[in-house]
Amino acid sequence: MTHPAYGVARQVTPFASVLLEDNPGPLTLDGTNTWLLRAPDSTHTAVVDPGELDIPHLERVLAAAGPIEAVLITHHHEDHVGGAKWLADKANAPVRAFDQALCHGEGPLRDGDTLTLAGLDLEVLHTPGHSSDSVCFAIDHNGQSAVLTGDTILGRGTTVIAPPDGQLGAYLDALRTLAGRAPNTAVLPGHGPELPDLVGVAREYLAHREQRLDQIRAALAHIGPDATPRQIVEIVYADVDKSLWGPAEWSVQAQLAYLRGR
Ligand SMILES: [Zn+2]
Repeated sequence: MTHPAYGVARQVTPFASVLLEDNPGPLTLDGTNTWLLRAPDSTHTAVVDPGELDIPHLERVLAAAGPIEAVLITHHHEDHVGGAKWLADKANAPVRAFDQALCHGEGPLRDGDTLTLAGLDLEVLHTPGHSSDSVCFAIDHNGQSAVLTGDTILGRGTTVIAPPDGQLGAYLDALRTLAGRAPNTAVLPGHGPELPDLVGVAREYLAHREQRLDQIRAALAHIGPDATPRQIVEIVYADVDKSLWGPAEWSVQAQLAYLRGR
């Protein structure tokens, strides 16, 4: 079975399977990936990103997961966290996130924490940029490495950086952190298909952002330093479908803020 597979838990690594929510859209791609983490010999599951408050999806998560030890959140956006409280209440499990306001039953996640859940050690990496509270979860188990990247790295396309919560400078730092992980680390993203090579993808994302920054510098030189985000989008994103020009405008705002030093 390959991505996208709706309605079933699809095994991706020996310790991770994905249940794809049926909520496709321009920003969610094929939908939200709800990850079920469990060591092969564990009776319990850790659920990462339950998705929206979408009861049929959450019922499937409950059925596929069995006993849930914790519900983890990569960031506060509704397509990841909307169903967390409902699921945690049904499963009698805590909700944990970087943002204290999203937590129930246990405290917030911090950069460098190691969580022992479902027979696995999960390393918390604070990777702000897509949002200030974005985290990734790194797992090394029996010689296999994977990082759950939330929306920091997607299975295809690029992620949206929407200021003021999204910050390009922080995002570039996060990408450099991910580019420094071990080779042959799988990417288990918040949307889109899994990818085999985190380091390669992080480097591609960095190169893409640098290329966009160069294009924006060129557009500013052409239009003038007071160019609006919209004027820049029309030039730099001319090759991108117009339905994405709204999110592209947020990205341009983020890049202008970065280039203008604020
Ligand atoms: Zn998302």
